[in-house]
Amino acid sequence: MIITIDGPAGTGKSTAARLLAARLGFDVLDTGAMYRAVALAVLRKQASPDDETALQSLLRDLRIRVDGPRVWLNDEEVTEAIREPAVSQAASRVAAVPAVRRFLMELQRAAGRNRNIITEGRDQGTVVFPQAEVKFFLTATPAERAERRRRELATRGIFRRTEEILAEQEERDRRDSNRSMAPLIPAPDAILIDTTSRTVDEVVSLMEEHVRSWHDR
Ligand code: C5P
Repeated sequence: MIITIDGPAGTGKSTAARLLAARLGFDVLDTGAMYRAVALAVLRKQASPDDETALQSLLRDLRIRVDGPRVWLNDEEVTEAIREPAVSQAASRVAAVPAVRRFLMELQRAAGRNRNIITEGRDQGTVVFPQAEVKFFLTATPAERAERRRRELATRGIFRRTEEILAEQEERDRRDSNRSMAPLIPAPDAILIDTTSRTVDEVVSLMEEHVRSWHDR
């Protein structure tokens, strides 16, 4: 069974995916981490995140492995390194490059084969797993999303102003929503959940109800 969770940054996708997976006994696939790993590789090569030719040659010998919350680039663990703000911005730029999307879509589909997974990202319900049994699309107001991001960064010792985070978030939203390949939009059959004034537990319980009612149909 495949459950997809899509939506913009800061809507609580990762947390909801992890907690829902624990309740249902599913595995989790964080597809944003894959785009981040490609972005980190590009930044280290000092190539441009929009340069399709440079990206194509980089992808040729790139090995990305994601296991729950942990991520490896070739043989190096990059779980922490991919969470830097510079990587977030570069990730949304490499994500607009068709060669990168095709490369990662293959990895994502392979990860979903013969398993019960909850996969989260921007295009999981629309493009990568259109046949998924249950699809969610999470939203929240821009201010709430930025505030969550500020708090999350602070727990890791990175202190940023909310206005700065809001500006970067807007830029990322704009890029994710306007790219021609796999733009950020809800699948027609996705269940929309506004997480702005719901607790994490409320969101996860609501999702669990939907999954169980699908199962009991
Ligand atoms: O979710 P996260 O913030 O880690 O994703 C980083 C970036 O990767 C996003 O801004 C988006 O541009 C890209 N992404 C994507 N499709 C996905 C997952 C992430 O385009 N399925």
